[in-house]
Amino acid sequence: MPETPAQYYQRLKALAMAKRVLYKVETSKINLTLIRSIYKSEGVKIDYWIPKGRKIKACYFADGEPSVMVDKNLPNEPKIFALVHELKHHWVDRDAILDGVHKCGAYDDNNFVEIGAEVFAAQFIYPDTEMLTDLENFGVPPAACTPEHIVRFKSACPAPVSYTFLVKRFERFKRIEVGSCKKVQFKKLEEQIFGTPVYKRPSFIKNRKKKRT
Ligand SMILES: [Zn+2]
Repeated sequence: MPETPAQYYQRLKALAMAKRVLYKVETSKINLTLIRSIYKSEGVKIDYWIPKGRKIKACYFADGEPSVMVDKNLPNEPKIFALVHELKHHWVDRDAILDGVHKCGAYDDNNFVEIGAEVFAAQFIYPDTEMLTDLENFGVPPAACTPEHIVRFKSACPAPVSYTFLVKRFERFKRIEVGSCKKVQFKKLEEQIFGTPVYKRPSFIKNRKKKRT
């Protein structure tokens, strides 16, 4: 019997956990330096680029010396996610890409190869079970969470993940309704809750300008 998508995603989650063990990955220590060192061990080159008009964050090239092109200007959290997504292509899809079965950059939402890479990256960066434990430890309600819960959780959780990442997880864990946070401006809400970050305060900007002159 061929593998169902659900079985495929389970297998990728297991692979993500195995790779974490292999590289002794701890969630709180995941950063770009660690990801770059994994790329180095795997012999995959990273090429930074500035995409012009195309909505692709990263792309894997299997030919010859494998390499990944990644949008230089991505913030750290989505950059880490994109780089781990591409590692799944390297570990799982390389032969299929070389055979032309799967095309790089085929970001079709119905494409289970791509969804699989998202599942893999999410599990690699912040395993489900770890997040569930953290949610419980931080006292996040098991249902009917508010955007404020997500903001507070993000600031307390050890994983380098974006609001987009956390919203998807809160949805899957049924702590919020799917789509309920679509219009939430999390960065704004974050400033309302925690105050304006130092670098954005008028006094800081004034001082910085003074120093420059
Ligand atoms: Zn992909």
